[in-house]
Amino acid sequence: MLVALTENGNRIYADEAQKRDANGNKNKFYCPDCGSELTLKQGSKNIWHFSHKDGNTICLFRKGKSGESIIHQTMKKKIKEIIERDNDVVFSELEWKIGSRIADYYCEIRDARGNIRKVAVECVYRHNDIDEFTNKSEYYFDREIYCLWIFNLTRFLNKDNSFKEEVRVNEIIKKAHTAYFGKVFALDIANEVIYAIHLSGILRETESVTLYDELGNGYDVGGNSYFLRGTKSPDPVLIGDLSLTKFARTRADGYLDMNRSVCMVDLAKWW
Ligand SMILES: [Zn+2]
Repeated sequence: MLVALTENGNRIYADEAQKRDANGNKNKFYCPDCGSELTLKQGSKNIWHFSHKDGNTICLFRKGKSGESIIHQTMKKKIKEIIERDNDVVFSELEWKIGSRIADYYCEIRDARGNIRKVAVECVYRHNDIDEFTNKSEYYFDREIYCLWIFNLTRFLNKDNSFKEEVRVNEIIKKAHTAYFGKVFALDIANEVIYAIHLSGILRETESVTLYDELGNGYDVGGNSYFLRGTKSPDPVLIGDLSLTKFARTRADGYLDMNRSVCMVDLAKWW
């Protein structure tokens, strides 16, 4: 986790925290949710973060995961930087508690008319919890918060950083793709940019062969086209400016069993 409370109860990020105070005494840090003590980790290899001293505490920051991956934490930090760069942000916090949930990132943005838009961002690195995806999206919708799910771009890239011709798609990708009307959003951590990626079906044909019956009559079988299951072809569009003010909210429809936030409605539509 990236945020903690100081002894005075102030929120502090791991990259701003000091291990010792001006008098050389050790500073103490506490979990904003369960209140138990945290250890500040400021190593040279990983992103600076906090972790629970007691590995058995039950709290929202530990829910369903045995410690968040460093890549997931890096994604959150980068998203915050990108959104602050591209929007008129009036409130911006990592790991912000909303009711009984913690958003990876939460912000409030002023749009062109001066209205405040509330936005929660959830980063997806490895996990594939489709219920969490559906429930969180719905939870935010009920609270008039727009929800943006962002994947790590690396899952769409080859080792040489070119885009893959074919990618495996899991349930979360499929559902996010439907929720955002034919695209998913992906973060390029290294270059601090976001892509919108449309995924299209890959058409294959079965081999056509001629079979002969006992009387020597030949007939053709195969040669049918079909879509590959679980695999799609990515079509990326670089989003130079991640302006989140042009959001729309849409109720559940025949395509989706949940309400959705449609982000970036000015992007080309795929259907
Ligand atoms: Zn905790």
